[in-house]
Amino acid sequence: MQRKRYDAAVTSAATPVRTWEYAPAPETVKVSIRPEYDLFIGGAFVPSKGGKRFATTNPATEETLAKVTEATEADVDRAVAAARKAFRSWRQTKPKERAKYLFRIARRIQDRARELAVLETLDGGKPIRESRDVDIPLVAQHFFHHAGWCDKLKYAAPYLSEGDLEPIGVCGQVIPWNFPLMMAAWKLAPALACGNTCVLKPAETTPLTALMLAEILQEVDLPPGVVNIVTGGPTAGRALVEHKGVDKIAFTGSTEVGKRIAESCAGSGKRLTLELGGKSPNIVFADAAIDQAIEGIVSGIWFNQGHVCCAGSRLLVEESVLDEVIEKLRHRLRSLRVGDPLDKNTDVGAINSAAQLATIRRYIEIGENEGARRETIESGPLPARGYWCRPTFFTEVQPSHTIAREEIFGPVLAVMSFRTPEEAILRANNTPYGLSAGVWTDKGSKVFDVARRLKAGVVWCNTFNKFDAASPFGGFRESGFGREGGRQGLLAYLARTR
Ligand code: NAD
Repeated sequence: MQRKRYDAAVTSAATPVRTWEYAPAPETVKVSIRPEYDLFIGGAFVPSKGGKRFATTNPATEETLAKVTEATEADVDRAVAAARKAFRSWRQTKPKERAKYLFRIARRIQDRARELAVLETLDGGKPIRESRDVDIPLVAQHFFHHAGWCDKLKYAAPYLSEGDLEPIGVCGQVIPWNFPLMMAAWKLAPALACGNTCVLKPAETTPLTALMLAEILQEVDLPPGVVNIVTGGPTAGRALVEHKGVDKIAFTGSTEVGKRIAESCAGSGKRLTLELGGKSPNIVFADAAIDQAIEGIVSGIWFNQGHVCCAGSRLLVEESVLDEVIEKLRHRLRSLRVGDPLDKNTDVGAINSAAQLATIRRYIEIGENEGARRETIESGPLPARGYWCRPTFFTEVQPSHTIAREEIFGPVLAVMSFRTPEEAILRANNTPYGLSAGVWTDKGSKVFDVARRLKAGVVWCNTFNKFDAASPFGGFRESGFGREGGRQGLLAYLARTR
C-alpha cells in the first residue's frame, strides 16, 4: 500500500474536520531587543575576545531577532575567573543577605514577566499562553522557593549539623532550548542559595531571555561575577565543561551530549549532575476518567510542541478502551490550534529550529516506513513562513519500532495497547530512559502499585507535566542522575566539610 507523506493529513471520512472560529488575539506587549548582545561577565556586558556573532531567529517567522556572541575559550576563561573571584565573598555573604538577592531577582522577574514571556515566545516558538502562564511563573517561583532555603540549608540534610555543609564553588551550567529561562532558573537559583557562583551557557537558538535575566541581575545589584552568562554553541559548552577552574557541572540536554560530558568529567574531581532525554510512558487504564485522560495525553505530548524531556510520548492504553481513546483524541485534536505563537488562542506553536523540524520529519517518515499508521489532523491553515509540524499520532505501533524507542522531541505520539497491569508495567519500563511516567486510573490502590514499579524519576497520577520548585525532578538510567528542585536539588550544590 502506498503510504501518504507527513505533509498530507490522514483523516477519516467519517470524522470531517471542523474547527472553532476565533478572532485573532495577538499579544500586544512589545519587548525591546538590542540588535547585538555581548557576553555577561563580572556583572557587565563585555565584548568577546575574538568571538564572532551569530543570529538568533524567530522560528515562527524565520526573521533574525538579534546577533549574539559566540564565546571563545578565552571568554569562558574570563567568565570562570570572574566567578572564582566572586565566590570568595559570595560564600561569606550572610545567608539572609543572599536570600534578599534571590527575593529581589524573583520580584523583578514578576515585574518584567510579560516582557520575558513575549521574548521567550519570540526566540523559542512556544505559545505565549505557555510562556506567560507556565514558564515565567515557574521561573519566579524557583527563585522565591530557593530564597527561602538560603538560611535553612542545614535542614536540607537533616542528618548533618550546622557547619557540615558548604558551597561547592564555581558551577558550570549548560542548558537546552526547550524551556530556556526555566532551565536557567532551575540551575541558578539552588546554586546561588547554597553560596556557589555560576557560569551559565544558554542554548544557541534561545539565548535572549537569559540575557534579559542578566539585565535583571544588574538591576538588583547582584555582586559582579556571582552569575556570568556566556552565549554560544557546543564549542563554548565544551570549553566550560572542560575548564579546570570549574568545580561542578550541571548539564541539561540530550543523552548523547550528556554521555560525552560524563566521559570528559570522569576522573577530574568535578561534581556532575545530568538531566537528559526521555521516552516516557503515559498509561491509561480502562477504569480511568477517559475525558480527563485525554486532556492529560494532549498536555503530555503536545505541550510546548512536544519539546519536553518528560513528554508522555509513548501512550499505553488498555485494549478495551483503545478505540474510545483514539476517537476522543481525534475529536480533541480537531480543536487544537497550531500557528502564530504570539496569538493567545494558539495551542501549538512553532518548532524551535529548522534542524529540529528536519529531525521530527525524519522520525515521522521512519514511523510510516516501519509500518505504523500515522494520523495528522488538520485544524486550520499554517502560516506561510516558519517551522511547523501538526500534532501527529501513530497507531499500530510495535515496541520495537524506532518511534516507540527513540526520543523525537516533537509533537509526535506513539500509541500502543496492553491487556493487564503487568503488561503495562513491562512495556512502560521497556526503555533505556527513566524520566517520567503517567498513570490514569480510578483506583487508588492501582496508582500506588503501578507507580511504585515504574522506573521513572517522576510519576504523575491522573495528571501530567506538573512542576513545582519544591518537588525534585530528574531521571534514572539514560535520563541522567541528580535532582533539580526541592531539598534533593539543593544537595547537588552542597559539599560536606567532613
Ligand atoms: P543538546 O544536548 O544538543 O544541547 C544542550 C546544550 O548543550 C546546548 O546549550 C548546547 O549548546 C550544549 N552542547 C552541545 N554539545 C556540547 C558539548 N559537547 N559539550 C558541552 N555542551 C554542549 O540538547 P538540545 O537539543 O539543546 O535539548 C534537547 C534535549 O535536552 C532533549 O534530549 C531533552 O530531552 C533534553 N532535556 C532534558 C531535560 C531534563 O530535565 N531531563 C530538560 C530539558 C531538555
